[in-house]
Amino acid sequence: MAPLLSVVIPMYNEQDAIAPLTARLRPALDAITADYEVVAVDDGSADDTAQLVDGLRADWPQLRLIRLRRNAGHQAALTAGLTRARGRYVVSIDADLQDPPEKIGEMLALARRDHLDVVYGVRADRATDTVFKRRTAAAYYRLMRRLVGSWVPRDAGDFRLLSRTAVDALLALPDHQPVYRLLVPALGFPSGTVSYVRAERVAGTTKYPLGRMVRLALDSVTNFSAAPLRLATWLGLISFCCCLVMIGFGVVGYVAGWTVPGWTSLFVAVLFLGGLQLTCLGLLGEYVARIYSTVQARPTYHIGTDTAAARVEETTSA
Ligand code: UDP
Ligand code: MG
Repeated sequence: MAPLLSVVIPMYNEQDAIAPLTARLRPALDAITADYEVVAVDDGSADDTAQLVDGLRADWPQLRLIRLRRNAGHQAALTAGLTRARGRYVVSIDADLQDPPEKIGEMLALARRDHLDVVYGVRADRATDTVFKRRTAAAYYRLMRRLVGSWVPRDAGDFRLLSRTAVDALLALPDHQPVYRLLVPALGFPSGTVSYVRAERVAGTTKYPLGRMVRLALDSVTNFSAAPLRLATWLGLISFCCCLVMIGFGVVGYVAGWTVPGWTSLFVAVLFLGGLQLTCLGLLGEYVARIYSTVQARPTYHIGTDTAAARVEETTSA
């Protein structure tokens, strides 16, 4: 009874976007198949978002509404939607029409043709974003590719298609604060891309103010990288090297008689101990990092196929 396609849309105070969204999403989906469901996740909106969606359900049988009891944030709302979606393919899309619903058909066709588990929507053109948004986004993807790995696709946000296999693998991950734009590529499942032009928000204002952007970046870094924990090691080693130079300098000064009595020994002791402490902190950090990754308990592999299995699983669930 699983529909072919689920479309998950997190919505937070999007009352003005609902009518234009429906006007474009519905024909786009109807053109693909009738066998779909739209999973609107109302993320504890304070406006009429939920009421408006609920009102649409009467003459749009494929529309489902899931209401969260309080605002949980974009990624958590996505998790709720992915968990509840029943489709053999699941597309996530923003409610503000910045991602074109017309591309969903292309994503689905590509996934089915090439047996892909993931199709990323990649923003080919962000001209409509503000300069600030473009700069911060570019910095974010640069940082992630450096810290996490160069397999993180550039400019792939949360507009993507996942196969049932990929959704189940994602949901089986024990991550508490998932950042899907990193977790999905981390799965390493067969993937493709569909590029699109990022449009302007159709109504309302962004629900990602600076604070939330910083939060997402912090979650991304701490979920995938122990680099901040290693910072102490590097600082310690640097101050250690400085200390060696300064010891030479202090001894020369002492012999040449430039220094006040006691300065050399104090100076060297301070630098030496500081370096030692930072290095030890860094060492602790290494162990904390290992404990953390153990607690995260992410699987180290995902089975593709096993010829000996009673039911041979396909790479995709198509
Ligand atoms: N969103 C949500 N919960 C939140 C914040 C945002 O469900 O707490 C939804 C929002 O309604 C939209 C999507 O997440 O559908 C992306 O948010 P937005 O368009 O404001 O982000 P931007 O495109 O500005 O980065
Ligand atoms: Mg948006």
